[in-house]
Amino acid sequence: MTAPQQQVPPRTETEYIQAVAILLAAGGTLAATETALVALMAPLKLSLTAIRTALRLAASAKMSPQFMLAVQKSSRGGPVQITAGSQKRYQAAYLITAAKRIHKAELRAGLSPKKQDPDLDTNQALAARHKPVTTERLSEKTEAAKDAQRAEALKQEKLFLELHKRAQVAREKAAIKSELALKQHGKVLGWYAVQDGTASAECAAAHGHNFNAGKRPIIGYPGSVHPYCRCNPGPAWADNQPVDIVVHSLIKKKERAL
Ligand SMILES: [Zn+2]
Repeated sequence: MTAPQQQVPPRTETEYIQAVAILLAAGGTLAATETALVALMAPLKLSLTAIRTALRLAASAKMSPQFMLAVQKSSRGGPVQITAGSQKRYQAAYLITAAKRIHKAELRAGLSPKKQDPDLDTNQALAARHKPVTTERLSEKTEAAKDAQRAEALKQEKLFLELHKRAQVAREKAAIKSELALKQHGKVLGWYAVQDGTASAECAAAHGHNFNAGKRPIIGYPGSVHPYCRCNPGPAWADNQPVDIVVHSLIKKKERAL
């Protein structure tokens, strides 16, 4: 299977995320995806290694088998289907920011392609001919230092990957919960936060309000708002203010306070 050809190059961040998500969803081989990805991201002027590494890291965050099974079994337009679609966009967003972070780390470590141009190599080779021992030792040391910096950058990046994977698992679990609630209570579901005074502002605001199971709330399905979200879906409340309206006005209020 070949990856789809990009006709109009993306311009905005959202367009890039969309284009990369389509590429990831196409299900091509890693090699085919990489070739198409490098071409797609060319205008961003990121190094090849940054794009390649980011693709491999993003590809390692696969949807869980349990979730894939739920996707197969789910009714069309349910939370599980909606979340499966959005996971590709989250994966694409992670891939793009990871490639940018890796590229920046490479620049900081002096690993940018500019510093590896042929002229420099020739100069180094010439210098090596005149002072073989010193130059060799110096370049050995530099290479070792660069390797250490590369390893450190990758270690940092793996922490971001871990956060991405955790959020992905939370979204999958939350989608399955809302899918079950949809079957039990119907399309309109109530939002239930744990009432112990420790819920986040968004979760506390959403509590007591309803959402449509077939439309992902702007803060995500209950249980996936933040890493320690303990919210659950349940029967609809006798309330006519949707979760999105309440949360939206809370976000606006926060923005005004800044
Ligand atoms: Zn919550």
